[in-house]
Amino acid sequence: MQKNQKEESCALKESSKGSACKGCSEKEACQSKSQNENELIEKTLKKIKYKIAILSGKGGVGKSTISANIALYLAKKGYKTGIMDVDFHGPSVPRILGISEDKAELTDGKIISVKVGENLKVLSLGNIIPDIKEAVIWRGPVKISLIKQFIEYSDWEELDYLIVDCPPGTGDEPLSILQLLGADTGVIILTTPQKVAVDDVRRSITFCNRVGNPVLGLIENMSGFICSKCGNIENIFGEGGGEKLALEMHIPFLGKLPLDANVVKNSDSGLPIFENTSQPVMDAFDDIMKSIIEKTK
Ligand code: ADP
Repeated sequence: MQKNQKEESCALKESSKGSACKGCSEKEACQSKSQNENELIEKTLKKIKYKIAILSGKGGVGKSTISANIALYLAKKGYKTGIMDVDFHGPSVPRILGISEDKAELTDGKIISVKVGENLKVLSLGNIIPDIKEAVIWRGPVKISLIKQFIEYSDWEELDYLIVDCPPGTGDEPLSILQLLGADTGVIILTTPQKVAVDDVRRSITFCNRVGNPVLGLIENMSGFICSKCGNIENIFGEGGGEKLALEMHIPFLGKLPLDANVVKNSDSGLPIFENTSQPVMDAFDDIMKSIIEKTK
């Protein structure tokens, strides 16, 4: 995983689209290495039946929580599943899955992912860097280069599903990730019902339409707060914004997940949100997952 200085500087120059290679004495060796890399990435991705990227124009809407739980749910249903956490500035998937103390090992030229149960393999920077509390300050091309290495050196082998927790926004990073994963990667868009989130997320849908990846649907998270004492529903972030957006943008609506303190409690304890939370959360998540499985059969 450690890149030497030469590779690092090339990664930083990647954005200049090859012009930085002009006159470089190692151009040929470098280009053949890059071709090998691409072949290896293609070979790895070919072994995966369905790739799903979770995108959101806005941060803090529950992307990591939902990504981790989608992966865990699929694994518990018996599907061989991988999750790749490439939200490098906030790799929270390990905490949500209760594996933040585990370390991914680097052996025999492979990154040995952390396992959760029988069927889930997790690849996250949170299990690689020594101190997750340290801020990660990397420029885009370095991050893309690291994502390539995640795929290239992964130990996934055959998978039914690969879930990718993408960085928020519609900038270079999600774009490069989708390009790397391929045009057959399905996208799930996440939003809260709040207008500011919906506006950002509208851009995510336009972005997918532009790059041509199929949108599996939209999930509205934090949709209505359920009082644990009286069961009353309070629409803290507004109501139905995601559902309306799905209708407006002609994409499937996968469902609403309520805002519920049990989601926070379970996620902080490394427990699933689809077990031992509240009935509305468990029912909603179950419906969303049935819909996702149906669409990816
Ligand atoms: P993102 O990855 O979009 O930044 P996170 O998954 O880290 O968002 O979630 C942000 C916070 O919101 C976390 O504290 C998480 O536990 C909480 N959260 C996510 N979904 C819900 C929900 N449905 N109800 C209550 N809290 C939630």
